[in-house]
Amino acid sequence: MQTAEIRRRFLAHFEAAGHTVVPSAPLLLEDPNLLFVNAGMVPFKPYFLGQETPPYGTATSVQKCVRTLDIEEVGKTTRHGTFFQMNGNFSFGQYFKEGAITHAWRLVTGHVDDGGLGFDAEKVWVTVLEGDHESRELWRSVAGLPDERIQDRDLNDNYWHMGVPGPGGPCSEIYIDRGPEFGPDGGPVVDEDRFLEIWNLVFMQEEITNVRAKDQFDVVGPLPSQNIDTGMGLERVAYLLQGKQNLYETDEVFPVIERASQLTGRTYGANHVDDVRFRVVADHVRSGLMLMGDGVTPGNEARGYVLRRLLRRAVRSMRLLGYEDPALPELLPVSLDRMKASYPELEADFPRIEQVAYAEEDAFRSTLGKGTQIFDVAAQKVKADGGTGLSGEAAFTLHDTYGFPIDLTLEMAQEQGLSVDADGFRALMAEQKARAKADAKAKKGVHADTHAYRAALDANGPTDWQAYTTLSTESR
Ligand code: ATP
Ligand code: MG
Ligand code: MG
Ligand code: MG
Repeated sequence: MQTAEIRRRFLAHFEAAGHTVVPSAPLLLEDPNLLFVNAGMVPFKPYFLGQETPPYGTATSVQKCVRTLDIEEVGKTTRHGTFFQMNGNFSFGQYFKEGAITHAWRLVTGHVDDGGLGFDAEKVWVTVLEGDHESRELWRSVAGLPDERIQDRDLNDNYWHMGVPGPGGPCSEIYIDRGPEFGPDGGPVVDEDRFLEIWNLVFMQEEITNVRAKDQFDVVGPLPSQNIDTGMGLERVAYLLQGKQNLYETDEVFPVIERASQLTGRTYGANHVDDVRFRVVADHVRSGLMLMGDGVTPGNEARGYVLRRLLRRAVRSMRLLGYEDPALPELLPVSLDRMKASYPELEADFPRIEQVAYAEEDAFRSTLGKGTQIFDVAAQKVKADGGTGLSGEAAFTLHDTYGFPIDLTLEMAQEQGLSVDADGFRALMAEQKARAKADAKAKKGVHADTHAYRAALDANGPTDWQAYTTLSTESR
């Protein structure tokens, strides 16, 4: 079943049950806490918080999401994309646990001829919050699940909140057992992909405050209404229903891998290291396309930097696969071709998008051209001296003189089995910043001291840590 068909079925299922179909919000919303929309509920936040009255009692959507926190997982697990689409159904004070569980069960196990997704009921496992007897009982009575396949999890896994005072509640997650060839029996295990998490049902029921950790907070009291917020990973369902091994092999993503394989002359599936690179290429090209489509341009501030990092990683991964020519002009149109059915606006906007992307690749290629040799010499020297790490000074020189962002140095060092003295690097960056400040003071009154600006930008902008620390926590 094609991804677009799964999306259609999801929306149709909930529309038939009276939900208003709401189009995806853009990836960028005016929310200071959020770099990008990272869950389907984000556009509905004011309704859940009771700040605004929803114009409908129930809604359904397929929301574009970006989770940069998952960047390191891409290609290594079977299930994480930096961009993905979250199918959701939402109830604002209408139905609660029973409705959410009944809807989910019918869609997941409903026969394909009746509009369902056709999963084998025997392969479905769920988790509930320990002590949530009501949900356990519903999974028994609505779905007929045996106790073994209804597993208790603690607050850490099965309680949802936003990390700040606001709404919260227990959740129940749905997993599909991919079979014994993918791992041991016994139910979902964190970070193993035999039991694949496909859907999270959140029972938003109370207001919480004083959040100290994922599992440490105080409950103020019940919300005025009991709400439902669910999120189903569209690509995850697609990978299962298409009989694939991971989400990078689904119909919306895999054609980029195929093109990359043609260009590099390497076969996908031949070895693990290359396979991860192929998946990174396909994932990042698609995320780049979707971000640029929503108006993000590469830059050194938080959002632009995430895009820059994704595009650069795609380009570098192609190089590591042996392809040195400009890669994005070959790959981006392939991704567009897969995504335009669901997002037709991308096509009209593509002339702008490709211009932005190719300019970024050109700039990166010249950075790489200048710095790579310097990096290689430094790395060889460390190894010849019997060392295991690149000095902070070397990383600083690469940054300061050759424009090498620290994340690139870290990544290249890692590929050579070397560490980087990141503290040393940061100390040198701080020193430079202080010097620039002193300079600026001395020159007070001189107009447009771009040197100081540039130094401050260097110090604060394009570092890996910046990109990570400014990210909000994931929503579930
Ligand atoms: P995981 O534990 O696999 O990282 P999660 O618990 O972080 O997933 P939720 O926050 O519960 O995910 O999001 C709801 C659903 O969205 C998940 O059940 C999953 O199907 C999907 N999803 C989450 N993160 C990703 C991702 N990076 N790529 C693709 N789908 C995702
Ligand atoms: Mg996650
Ligand atoms: Mg999870
Ligand atoms: Mg989850």
